[in-house]
Order: sequence, then structure tokens, then C-alpha cells
Amino acid sequence: MAVLCAVMAAVVLFSALSPAVYAQTDEERIKELQRQADELQKKIDAANEQLKKIAGDKAQEQKYINELNAQIEALQKQINAYNSSIDIIDSQIKSLDNQIIETKSKISKKEAEKQKLEEEVAALEGEIDDTYLKLKERLRAIYMNGTTSDWEILLSGKDLSMYFLRTELTEGIAKHDNQLIAGLKERISALQSKKEQIKKEIDEINEEQQKLKQQQDTLDEKKDALNTQKKKVSSSKSTINTKLEESTKLLRTLNKESETYKKLVKKYEQDKAEFEAEINRILNNESSSGSGSIVGGGKMIWPVPYSNCYITSPYGYRNDPFTGKWTGHGGVDISIRGGAYGKNIVAVLDGTVVIATYHYSYGNYLAIDHGNGLVTIYAHCSKLLVGKGDRVKQGQVIALIGSTGSSTGPHLHFEVRVNNVRQDPMKGYISLP
Ligand SMILES: [Zn+2]
Repeated sequence: MAVLCAVMAAVVLFSALSPAVYAQTDEERIKELQRQADELQKKIDAANEQLKKIAGDKAQEQKYINELNAQIEALQKQINAYNSSIDIIDSQIKSLDNQIIETKSKISKKEAEKQKLEEEVAALEGEIDDTYLKLKERLRAIYMNGTTSDWEILLSGKDLSMYFLRTELTEGIAKHDNQLIAGLKERISALQSKKEQIKKEIDEINEEQQKLKQQQDTLDEKKDALNTQKKKVSSSKSTINTKLEESTKLLRTLNKESETYKKLVKKYEQDKAEFEAEINRILNNESSSGSGSIVGGGKMIWPVPYSNCYITSPYGYRNDPFTGKWTGHGGVDISIRGGAYGKNIVAVLDGTVVIATYHYSYGNYLAIDHGNGLVTIYAHCSKLLVGKGDRVKQGQVIALIGSTGSSTGPHLHFEVRVNNVRQDPMKGYISLP
């Protein structure tokens, strides 16, 4: 951001400087405008460099975000699996709950039945006791009303026949009651066996309930374990979510920064285009205009007076060696086998030097006006040997080959312009020696 502020300040400064430019001579103005264009180009390069860096950061951040998203997706899948397992266990627990409730109601029903039987048994036992009591009373009444001898016989038990008599007597008296008691006992025994059966059933149900409770305990443990796992995964997910939020925020910031730089580059390019338009305007005013035909006839000569020349890049469209973009090439690039640096460049026709300066892209360059609107340009020179306003002769050495400005190696960038419109130099103007 500090860089950005510095460049912003520079832009403001430039705007303030511009009006002063117009008080100078054309040559000074061109030099000043080109210096400013040059400065702007440096700033465009710096801003583009920054954009490239931001783009790298953005790509890295996006990659990280994608990774985090993939992790979150995987964790969510795990959480979903846990949730569906927990759901299944929950429904199993619920069904066991219902079963337990059922067994509980069964048990309480049976317990009630048992209770009722116990009451019945108790009632019957009471009846038996009652019957015994009545029998005893009746026996006592008999003894009381009988003769002493009868009593003696009865109670001595010395005489066996008496004993039988006594037994007979007793049995006779008690026959009815005994039958009554036997009936009661039978009923009791039936109730007891029924009670035993119910007790057995209750035990079975209790056992079943115990089993159900054990199953439920096992499921509860399983559910607890799943919930623990789920909690762990959820916490991992929330950690990653936090990271994702941070990254997304950073990416937004980078995008914003990138937008700011893009706007800045656009502004610089507009400013630069204005400077260049101004340079062109001055050149248009200074150089000739007309049909573009060679004054007094004659022909252009090859600008590099060596036999082993070759063309490294023709006029037309090509991939820019710097940006890699498909771009126009306004001239022809000429090099020499065995090395071009420092080799002579000659004027292709007689003319007047209208520009001899430095340009951020052309480097050291010359523009020669040949009249009738015909101008030739010689760029990327290591050295200029003539100055603005100089009259030059065809074949005169005017500069030396170099690699100044936007150049990847020593070569001559040669242009032909008619009324400041670029022409293909190889089409009717010059040809390889
Ligand atoms: Zn070129």
C-alpha cells in the first residue's frame, strides 16, 4: 500500500508540472514530454509488477481456499455419517423404550393378578381357620353334653374298641366340616399353582426387561462415543471455517488492491498516451507532409551497410517479446550475423534530422524527414552521431547499433512513415542486400 501511495503522489505531482512544459521550445518540449512518458512507463511497469505479485498471492490464496473447502466438505460428510448413525441408534433406543414400557405394564398387570390371588388365598385360609374353629366348638359342645363315662372312654384311649368308637364319632361329627376344608384346600392349592405360574411369568418378563435395558445401555454407550467423535469433527470443521473466513477476507483485500492497481495502470496509460499524442502533434507540425514519394526520384538504400544482415522481426503483427501479447510491429528489426552491437547505421536518403533523443521504448533514436511527408526512424541505437536540425546525406553514418529502450538484444528497429503513418519498409522502400 505504501508503494501505491507514493505513486499516487507522483501522479498528482506530474499533473502540476505539465503546464510549465509549454513555455519551452519544441525540442525541449519533446524531450520533457518523453522524459515524462518514460517516467510513466516506469510506473506502469512497477504497477504491473505489483499486479503480477498480487495475482500470484491471489492464486495461492485461492488454492488454499479450495483446499480448505475440500477439507470442510470431507468433514461435513463425516458429520452427516455420524448424524445418520446417531439417528438410527436414537430410533433403536426409542423402540427399546417402548418395549420396556410394554414390559413394565405387563409386569404391573401380572403383579395385580398375583396380588388378587394372594388376597383370594388369604381369604380361603381365613375360611379354613374359621371352619376349624367351628368344628372345635362343635366337638366341645358334644363332650360337654355327653356322659362322663363317654368322656372317659373317649379320653382314656385305653380300650381299642373305644378308640374306634371315638374316631367314628369324631369323623361323624366332622365329616361335613372336613369336606368343607378339603374343598377349600383344593381351591387354595389351585390358586397357589396359579400364583406360582404368574410369579414365573413375572420372572420371565423381568428377565426380558433386563435384557432390553442391557441393549439400551449398549446403544447409549455407542451413541455417546459417536457424539464424542462428532464433536471432535465439528470442532475441526469450525477451525477450518475460521481459516476459510480469514482467507476469503484476504482474497477480497487482494482483489480490491488489484482493482486499485489496474485503475492506476489505466490512468498512467492514459497520461502516457496524452504525452505521446503531444509528441506526435509536434512531430506532425515539424516534419513535412505530402505524397510520400522520394524528392527528386532515387531509391532508399539499406540502412545497415553490411552483407551478412538478417531480419529478426518483420513489419506486421507478432508476439511481443516482453508481454507475450499479440501486438503490432511498426517497423523491421535488422541484425548482423557475428554481432551487431556498435555497427554503423546510415541514412537511407538525404534529409533533415527532426528527432534525436531518447524514448523509453525506442531508446536512443533518430527521425529523418526526407520531404513529401516521408520520414524514416532508427531506434535502439547505442549512440546517436547527428543532432536535431542536422542535414544528412544518403549513406552518411548517423548512429551506431545498440539495444537501448525496449530491446532484447542489439538490433536496428527501422521504420518508414508517410504523413506519420507507418509503412512496411520491405514493401517498395528497402530490401536486404
Ligand atoms: Zn522493432
